[in-house]
Amino acid sequence: VKIKKVRLYKTVYVPEELPRTPYREVAFVGRSNVGKSSLLNTLANNFKLARVSSEPGKTRSVNFFLVNERFFLVDLPGYGFAKVPLKEQKRWRELIETYLKGRDTLKGVFLLVDSRIGPTEKDLQMKDWLDFYGIPYVVVATKVDKLRTSERQKLEKKIQEGLGDKNIKIVPFSAKTREGRVELLKEIERLLES
Ligand code: GDP
Repeated sequence: VKIKKVRLYKTVYVPEELPRTPYREVAFVGRSNVGKSSLLNTLANNFKLARVSSEPGKTRSVNFFLVNERFFLVDLPGYGFAKVPLKEQKRWRELIETYLKGRDTLKGVFLLVDSRIGPTEKDLQMKDWLDFYGIPYVVVATKVDKLRTSERQKLEKKIQEGLGDKNIKIVPFSAKTREGRVELLKEIERLLES
């Protein structure tokens, strides 16, 4: 895909607001601070997606970005902030779970994992949901520019072991160097066509 035009189509806070549309979509999910906004920005060549998604109060929302009037990039709210009140966590869970389970237009999910931290408990939980609902996914290892060569060599294996799956596809990515951007765009195309 070549991303020529992006616009924020809808921001959703409650499951009832999730739009029914004819467009296919891929979604992005991960811990807060994993680098999701930076990745989306890099993908879209700084169409200012991130600014929208990181506005205070929008962190708990699902943002639908319509690309080339053809498909959605869906920005799911980040997880893993220990300080978030239980009630908020429950809202997050309901929103995400409703989204994942009833979405036939959803062709795949990019699960973002911080390459220095590796998969966390919450990432594993997300992977289990995706497996449970039969949603194809690709793991993106973010911020790879921060790794030393030796760490870099072990990266793929470390993440695969952490997720308990040796066949899982990993795309190394850096918003700083833009490494992995072209590969991600190819993966998006592949998932949308599947
Ligand atoms: P989000 O909360 O998942 O949307 O994460 P952000 O995109 O806001 O990034 C969180 C922090 O990580 C920010 O300080 C970014 O500048 C930094 N960051 C994001 N991506 C990269 C990357 O590829 N390389 C480096 N070195 N830092 C990054």
